[in-house]
Amino acid sequence: MIRILPEILSNQIAAGEVVQRPASVVKELVENSIDAKARRITIEIEKGGKSVIRVADDGAGLSRDQALLAIERYATSKIFDQTDLFSIATFGFRGEALPSIASVSKFCLVTKPKDADTAVRVEMAGGKLVQVSETGAPAGTLVEVKHLFFNTPARRKFLKADTTEAGHITDTISGMALGNPGVGFKMVASGRPVRHFPPDQDLLHRAMLVLGKDVADQLYPLAYSTANISITGVCANPAVTRSTANRIYLFVNNRLVYDKGIVAAVFRGFEGRIMKGRFPVAVICCDLPFDQVDVNVHPSKREIKFLSPQPVYQAVAQAVAAALKAAQQNAAAYAGSRPVPGSRISDVQKKTGFVQDSGYRAVQSAISWGPGRKSVPEPSPGSAPVPAAENTDAAEIRDVAEQHPPAIFGQVMGTYIIAEQGDRLMLVDQHAAHERVVYEKLKHRHTHLPRDSQFLLVPETLEMGAGEADLLSNILADLEALGLVIEPFGGTTFVVKAVPGLLAQKPVASLVHGIVETLMETGDTGIKEQWLENCLISMACHHAVQANKSMSLPEMASLVKDLFACDNPFHCPHGRPTMVSFDKTRMEKLFKRVV
Ligand code: ADP
Ligand code: MG
Repeated sequence: MIRILPEILSNQIAAGEVVQRPASVVKELVENSIDAKARRITIEIEKGGKSVIRVADDGAGLSRDQALLAIERYATSKIFDQTDLFSIATFGFRGEALPSIASVSKFCLVTKPKDADTAVRVEMAGGKLVQVSETGAPAGTLVEVKHLFFNTPARRKFLKADTTEAGHITDTISGMALGNPGVGFKMVASGRPVRHFPPDQDLLHRAMLVLGKDVADQLYPLAYSTANISITGVCANPAVTRSTANRIYLFVNNRLVYDKGIVAAVFRGFEGRIMKGRFPVAVICCDLPFDQVDVNVHPSKREIKFLSPQPVYQAVAQAVAAALKAAQQNAAAYAGSRPVPGSRISDVQKKTGFVQDSGYRAVQSAISWGPGRKSVPEPSPGSAPVPAAENTDAAEIRDVAEQHPPAIFGQVMGTYIIAEQGDRLMLVDQHAAHERVVYEKLKHRHTHLPRDSQFLLVPETLEMGAGEADLLSNILADLEALGLVIEPFGGTTFVVKAVPGLLAQKPVASLVHGIVETLMETGDTGIKEQWLENCLISMACHHAVQANKSMSLPEMASLVKDLFACDNPFHCPHGRPTMVSFDKTRMEKLFKRVV
């Protein structure tokens, strides 16, 4: 027998898609407030949002009739016909959120348009209308959601500890605050203020608050655009990393979304600067014509579809790469940037529940609605982010290095070179630095110069495992293009005939084994650029001077000079830093000459 579902039941089913946890309620309510042009939004929660969620705004408000309509399924003021569906500029449009939320909670809506004398109060319980009354209230809207899932115990069971749910809510608010820097947000959990972002901020200042004080002076603005794609946002210095992707915020036409392709593009922008297994910190805002994005592919609208994704990904990668390149111009600030001390701790907090990033500390003192920018930490002088500009590259660093060659003082711990340049003290990791230098030389040679092979006087025979032999047979031609000439010698035996000139003096068997092992591990043989890249990295690593090897002063000087001539002098090809630097201000701070 086929039946039409009773309305409450169908709302509850919709709630399963729209409302998974308290944070999803907060997201829907706050989005509604932003759609209603609110300037200030206050979010209060009790017990991680399980017992109370209250969202109040100073937005447009609703008349009595509108309010009653708003709680009906498919009632929306934001979309009228099919053409609207493909040019959605508001967060909401499905008209599902309020009735879904009301069907699984004790729900109350108090709302008043600016020109109305009284507010209307609509109370519901488990999706049934309980009471509609008049009341006094400020202009705007207050939605109160109590006892979420009280009537759907199965769902209630899936909720996590209060602190975990509160953490999800804080994350949600941080995300929405980044996407809407003009809107003020205040969050109070169990009576305690936990977040405060004043209205009328720009993205950079908002990002400083949301991402936290420790990251604040290590953010670089993004600015990149093509004919119809514009990328703005910020990315953090590569020294600031996290163990998950949860500090990569993506906005597409202001909507907080998740998109694997964009995350991959961010990584491409950071390529060669970040270590494997670590995640950068970034806020990426992509703006493109509304009809280029389908936002209606997922009930909670978290996923989207680009009509043509590649140009968007390309633009994101370019924007990030350009910002980092520009930031490198200010070498002292870029290399002086240290891993954020708090980052590990906050990773731990993340896993254990309540997340309180240091943004909170920065704003704690300004928790009441005060005049906007006061509470924003000013970027410290000398480390102000360098605006992205066209045609900026390491050329300038190179010029500076040429005019004032760094003075070398020696080597410590058999590994670190001590150098001074201008007002900077630098510590250079000799292995990482040399790896970078060799890698760029090999790469340059490979892309711009004819093949350079040096034939071995005595060809070397290699014994490979069966799997390794297969892999090696498949890449012989490409290795030859890199200058490494290897021929099969029957079965799993191979003969190395020639090696790249740069690597001539090195034992060759371990090099080839090293390359094959890395490729087996990374399984990258599919994409040619990627595995060629890995080969070059293996070669560079193999050839580079090891740690704990003593170097003469002239050797060190020439290494540092070569390093500064690189395109990306600050990171080894694996993404580790090649140097740390201390400018005068930082030294003075360390010795408390200044505070
Ligand atoms: P949608 O946002 O998809 O339109 P909702 O169920 O979230 O659907 O909201 C239904 C309608 O209620 C909205 O279209 C809007 O007109 C109204 N509404 C909801 N929240 C607010 C608010 N905070 N301020 C003003 N109007 C609101
Ligand atoms: Mg909505």
